[in-house]
Amino acid sequence: MFDPYTNEAKFALQAVRTAAQLCRRIQKEMVTEAMVKSDRSPVTVADFASQAVVARMLQEKFTEDPLVAEEDSTSLRTPDQEGTLWAVTGYVSALYPEATPETICEWIDLGSGEPSSRFWVLDPIDGTKGFLRGDQYVVALALVENGKVVLGALGCPNLSREMESDVGGVGAVAIAVRGQGAWAADMENGSFAEIRVSERSDPTQTHVLRSFAAEHTDTDKIDQLIASLGTAYPPILMDSAAKYAILAAGGGDLLFRLISPQKPDYVESIWDQAAGTILVTEAGGRVSDLTGRDLDFSRGRQLRENVGVLASNGLLHAAALEALRAVGADRRPEGL
Ligand code: AMP
Ligand code: MG
Repeated sequence: MFDPYTNEAKFALQAVRTAAQLCRRIQKEMVTEAMVKSDRSPVTVADFASQAVVARMLQEKFTEDPLVAEEDSTSLRTPDQEGTLWAVTGYVSALYPEATPETICEWIDLGSGEPSSRFWVLDPIDGTKGFLRGDQYVVALALVENGKVVLGALGCPNLSREMESDVGGVGAVAIAVRGQGAWAADMENGSFAEIRVSERSDPTQTHVLRSFAAEHTDTDKIDQLIASLGTAYPPILMDSAAKYAILAAGGGDLLFRLISPQKPDYVESIWDQAAGTILVTEAGGRVSDLTGRDLDFSRGRQLRENVGVLASNGLLHAAALEALRAVGADRRPEGL
């Protein structure tokens, strides 16, 4: 039985559950099929509302802890975003009746904290394309101490508690605390079950996870990796850190975040990787960058010392690093 024994774990669960429910409500009410490609306003509303709520909750609970979050209120304060700001205020005031446009901006800007010896890191919505498409997206919150992730929680509205894709289902929450394993439950409440990575060690049986968005990775190199491993299975395409949750629960064996040739200088942001990666390691897996180095969360808002990410069930990590070297995907591409 998982016991969220620390105040930090209790807080993280409550925060991602609250924010994920809010995102789901906004998605149901604002996303129509017609606007999926052209209008990003629903995801903007959900992104800001999610950050405002988590930041507000953190301020109340752990007043001294800095929050490093993806968004700030600069664009929201411009006159052409007035409607968006009012929509965010409307959604957040259902939870915090004292919310006004001004307090919303202040709460969002609580996320402009500096990474220090202990800080929280938040992606209010990871997988914005999935959110708009009606696929996977998550709310990702983690706690970093002395450059290491010690706790990570994902609110996953479109996963089941078995960490399988379940669009429109009850949703799930996953949490890992260093040394305590990785656990999942229904999104709103219910008991926790431990999740574990797969036991597959044969590269020819590998299920590879990669970004849905081709521009966030290197699809040619992924195809070469799949050929090099000799696996017959096509890659699983998925938005957001939901990929880490699937890997942590054994629904895939390898996750490659390769560098896109369109963005050869891209450096991963800590809020995209912190919560998902501790979920994998606590579920028995392994995480490194594409060269085999540990991820270094002590370098500010980006993983400046790392190149991409490789996450695995552990058993296939060495074979994956070898395949990355063999196809030349263990470094930054030349670019286009
Ligand atoms: P995914 O859902 O795997 O496509 O990853 C989504 C995250 O990747 C978002 O938080 C984006 O901010 C981030 N991202 C943006 N550009 C890139 C890029 N060129 N390569 C990798 N990730 C990116
Ligand atoms: Mg993100």
